[in-house]
Amino acid sequence: MDIGGTKAAAGLVNAAGEVLFTARRRMVVRKTAEEALRSVTEAIEAVLSNRRARAVTGIGISVPGWVDSQRGVLLSATNLPCWRNYPLAEKIQQRYKLPTRLANDANVAALAEAVWGAGVGYKNLFYVSLGTGIGTGLVLQDRLYYGRTGAAGEGGHMTIDLNGPQCACGKRGCIEMYASGSAIGARARQLVAHNPRTRILELAEGKAAAATSEIVGRAALDGDALANEILREAADYLSIWLGNIIDLLEPEVIVMGGGLGELMGSFFNYIRGRLETSAVSPSRQQIPILSALYGAESSLVGSAALCLPRGQVWMERSHKSAKRRDLRAR
Ligand SMILES: [Zn+2]
Repeated sequence: MDIGGTKAAAGLVNAAGEVLFTARRRMVVRKTAEEALRSVTEAIEAVLSNRRARAVTGIGISVPGWVDSQRGVLLSATNLPCWRNYPLAEKIQQRYKLPTRLANDANVAALAEAVWGAGVGYKNLFYVSLGTGIGTGLVLQDRLYYGRTGAAGEGGHMTIDLNGPQCACGKRGCIEMYASGSAIGARARQLVAHNPRTRILELAEGKAAAATSEIVGRAALDGDALANEILREAADYLSIWLGNIIDLLEPEVIVMGGGLGELMGSFFNYIRGRLETSAVSPSRQQIPILSALYGAESSLVGSAALCLPRGQVWMERSHKSAKRRDLRAR
């Protein structure tokens, strides 16, 4: 199940990470929690009613928001105001009597790449989804890394400039403010005013306000200098950010996905060159930067991967032993 602000997408995924069948329902997010749940169960039932779904062994769910993966609770998600501290996994599990897991959408996309995608064969992977925003996920020692509750992997909101613009998350100067699709679109709208001859303006039918990251991408492919300059600037910010991540984690591979991941693919070599000065790790230039295998279905496939041992919550024991320590302290 891949749940977003507008759609509830269910899919039957096999053990090879192939999507066999999908069903979509419009997501009702402005009414009650139960009505929102109905969008989800309708999509699930459309898939389960398919003959090929008889062998289903589990249900994985991803949402664009904060989750407690250990308890299967959706804490909050900006685009899903219908649910707050909502026991989504339990509701689904009770209804279908199938083991159900819940995680953040970028985290499961990382898992999809590690299990079946561009990261196959690597134990430690850092995944970046470059889209409207920037999502990230971590696979460490072959397992999806959840952190304490499931909120780990919010790399898109790492501040790279403390005096930078205010991000919707409340912080300042997040990488998302410089290298996401919305940031690239905003930069283009700002710069076309001084560059009346750019292809960006042509593609936007002469309206500066209509420039988007997709248009910048198309203009760059047409060889437009301003478009390339805007993307190179985003690549510079990504180099600084990835340099920090490499020094912290030394991942074996970096996988870039999301709508913009492919567009930035022509800058991967450039980024690797910049890592010479933006990271100190001796392996900074050996770490491969790869394009993701999965596109729009990354979160759907990743949700299915949650049902594999590699997707299980692995902080469980440490959490329990912490509880025991708390009891002893009392
Ligand atoms: Zn932010």
